[in-house]
Amino acid sequence: MAVNNEQKQQSQTVEYVDLAHKTLLNSDALYKYILETSVFPREHPCLKELREMTEKHPKSLMAVPADEGQLISMLVKLMNANKTMEIGVYTGYSLLSTALALPSDGKVLAFDISREYYELGLPMIEKAGVLHKIDFREGYALHLLDELLQDENNKGTFDFVFVDADKNNYINYHKRVIDLVKVGGLIGYDNTLWSGSVAAPPDAPMIDIIRNLRDYVIELNKYLAQDSRIEICQLSVGDGITICRRID
Ligand code: SAM
Ligand code: CA
Repeated sequence: MAVNNEQKQQSQTVEYVDLAHKTLLNSDALYKYILETSVFPREHPCLKELREMTEKHPKSLMAVPADEGQLISMLVKLMNANKTMEIGVYTGYSLLSTALALPSDGKVLAFDISREYYELGLPMIEKAGVLHKIDFREGYALHLLDELLQDENNKGTFDFVFVDADKNNYINYHKRVIDLVKVGGLIGYDNTLWSGSVAAPPDAPMIDIIRNLRDYVIELNKYLAQDSRIEICQLSVGDGITICRRID
């Protein structure tokens, strides 16, 4: 069937505007299948409660989707991670996924400019019995990372770092986090496909938040691809997550 220009325009608009999609898969039915078959039946009850509470929050689109929480949990367990960091907590879906996956003496250092957001999910974190694994610090992540780097003892000690905050600072985060993660450790950068916009023509219709930060994400992807200190793997889970393994 012939598709006229107006129809094309409309379908492109839907593609880039509909942020409600927590996946880059083109089939809602397929994504629903994944969630209903492999993710929700195995979701910890406190994660489910946190997810459902977050869905009612006006900024709920910021939370990582449940299938990505499952990926983070798998990575933490595969690595036998004990010391991890998260930059960008919001209500804590990825944080609680990490804390549940860590051993009982494991620790996750978590940064967010908003303690208010973190406190929304705090009752579920407490209920899950993992609060003792979390060291939450309120503030600007760049500043907090610089503080950590002032102590040589922190360098090369983190097993896993998940970065999910202000996209315009990801390269700045990378320049710091690379010294904090151990050789063989992982860094996960979230939203590296940025609603698919990284591969869209510059004049494609996009909502402001996508357009305004798109160049930063494109620059990050180029930067990571040429950084010889890491091996990388770009996954299309969620909004795209780039897994970096420090090798040097
Ligand atoms: N990982 C979270 C989850 O699973 O729900 C989602 C994080 S949300 C996309 C981004 C968070 O980064 C927000 O809670 C925001 O307050 C925080 N943030 C934004 N800029 C920041 C900065 N400069 N330093 C620390 N946190 C920041
Ligand atoms: Ca994210």
